[in-house]
Amino acid sequence: MTWRANSSLRRWLVGLIVLITGLTLVALFWQRTGSELPANRPASSTQAASPVAVVMPTFPLPSLPPPTVTPSATQAALLFDGGAAMSHVEAQMAFGPRPTGSDASRQTAEYILTTLADLGWEVESWPFEYQGVEGQNLVARAGEAGGPILVFGAHYDTRLYADRDPVAPQDPVPGANDGASGVAVLLELARVLNHGTVEGQVWLAFFDAEDNGDLDGWEYAAGSRIFVEQMGITPEYLVLVDMVGDADQDIYYEGNSDLHLRAHLWAIAAELGYEAYFIPEVRYYLQDDHIPFAEQGIPAVDIIDFDYPYWHTTEDTIDKVSPDSLERVGRVLQTFLERGGSYPEPGR
Ligand SMILES: [Zn+2]
Repeated sequence: MTWRANSSLRRWLVGLIVLITGLTLVALFWQRTGSELPANRPASSTQAASPVAVVMPTFPLPSLPPPTVTPSATQAALLFDGGAAMSHVEAQMAFGPRPTGSDASRQTAEYILTTLADLGWEVESWPFEYQGVEGQNLVARAGEAGGPILVFGAHYDTRLYADRDPVAPQDPVPGANDGASGVAVLLELARVLNHGTVEGQVWLAFFDAEDNGDLDGWEYAAGSRIFVEQMGITPEYLVLVDMVGDADQDIYYEGNSDLHLRAHLWAIAAELGYEAYFIPEVRYYLQDDHIPFAEQGIPAVDIIDFDYPYWHTTEDTIDKVSPDSLERVGRVLQTFLERGGSYPEPGR
């Protein structure tokens, strides 16, 4: 089911509940009035034939469900919640390390696809083989088709070896921040996003095979390179989120990112009061999943906090990740999208 079909079904159900409630109230009022009629007043034939009289005994008021939708419960009122995002980090960590081709990787993919399908997104797996290992990129779509396509991405695989770990370099990276955090932000964004004001269709891309670069002859961003070859469309841009959950959050400009889109996103962060965490100065130039997009001329921004001492160690664990950090990044993306999500005019 597409998101739009889901939305119209919801409107239909709300309408039905309102109709039944209204009919029942009318019926009860009519019954009460009827019982107070003088005994000598004859029942009119029109009253006896009224459909309200038929409905009345079927829907006694006490068994009616309470109204389920109020104006404050509309999609527009939902705000990205860091605690909800954190639960997606926990769920991924429960699968264990999630390197490409592992059972834990497949379980994570299933979790991502199921979560998004339940939220009404259209989901697909794009399987591939790389260096003899089976991987899969995942994509979820929602919103108006036929116009601009706005891609938001994260990698969901974790690094096979913690080769920067001084004690256990042969152990796998747990990937709480480097892996789970970006996925968690996109999953919570999928729940809260109000598509009504987004000018385009949103694609959420979950890349496999990002993080085994320089191990066993693998390249970094292998999965996203395959994604770009297979996607068959030219998106307006890619916004990548990677390592965004560090409790000690400092997100600098990434040097290979698109200048205009980068400035626009950091300006939204400042507007939301996050200027202490989104610092508009370049600190690193990184090879990440945005590069295959940028090489095709697609504006691409990497939102990444690379000042993370646990990077590619066994210490990349959930205690290093904070809900507040996830929430700041998520709210920047939500605000950007709900203001239209268009690529900014230069200078804006
Ligand atoms: Zn990594």
